[in-house]
Amino acid sequence: MFRDNESATLIDSGYGRFNDVTLGKVESALESWDGPSLDRIINTHIHSDHIGGNAELQRAHPGCSIAVPVDEQPALVNWDSPEQMLSYADQECERFAWDDVIEPGQQIQLGGEAWHSIATPGHDMGSLVFYSPNLRILISADALWEHSSGFVPPQAVDPKPLAAQRATFKRLAELDVALVIPGHGPMFTDFSGALARASAKLEAFAEDDLKIAKSVVKGMFIYSMMWRGEIALADVPAYLARIGVHRDYNAQFFKMSDEAYADWLVGEAVRAGKIRVDGAFLRST
Ligand SMILES: [Zn+2]
Repeated sequence: MFRDNESATLIDSGYGRFNDVTLGKVESALESWDGPSLDRIINTHIHSDHIGGNAELQRAHPGCSIAVPVDEQPALVNWDSPEQMLSYADQECERFAWDDVIEPGQQIQLGGEAWHSIATPGHDMGSLVFYSPNLRILISADALWEHSSGFVPPQAVDPKPLAAQRATFKRLAELDVALVIPGHGPMFTDFSGALARASAKLEAFAEDDLKIAKSVVKGMFIYSMMWRGEIALADVPAYLARIGVHRDYNAQFFKMSDEAYADWLVGEAVRAGKIRVDGAFLRST
């Protein structure tokens, strides 16, 4: 979150399941700054864990505008297409209206500094990141994390994102960055190390579509469980067979029975420490 005189800007609004936490944090930042109002939300891309608080924050802060990357508009108009991974992946998100768009290469003012928006297609084909040459800070969204980056779909589903993510890493490597504020995890300073790690991971994925498919369905299941909280173990096979991404990826990549797929996926999510088996139920940790 940034302050420009009496005006505050929030970059991305989190996953809707945690809107109470997001609203509380925004409120305490505004209070600590003694006066500014939340006037603007800027989204880096339109995944549910980055836009989930938009509608509720706008209700809580009347007059707050929402700006989205220009290339995300078609997906927002066609709300809930499979690529957006909402109902297709059992993710919840309240629909919102946007007031403004940001173009790649556009300059925006945040915290009294000029930031450049940079197109970073790959994980999301319309995604933008923001870079301040003066501060040497990169707001990297899901284009780069400390140890990896946001998932790209398997090449058998769509080959474009992986190639685009590769080009995005090349583009980012041209920047002089001292501090990265990623879309997930703490801020970090080892920019070139992060790029090397993320590129190595991407290339490992590039050689193995099945590995990508596993990571996509595991991530989506964990996020769905965060929202649901619990589900009866006996219901998991039928639940997964009902959700598009699980049904389609199982048919295309894993080719298991509903029961075997459910057993495998539950095991993976438990091993990741995000879910636990509690008697006859599966619960989010
Ligand atoms: Zn994302």
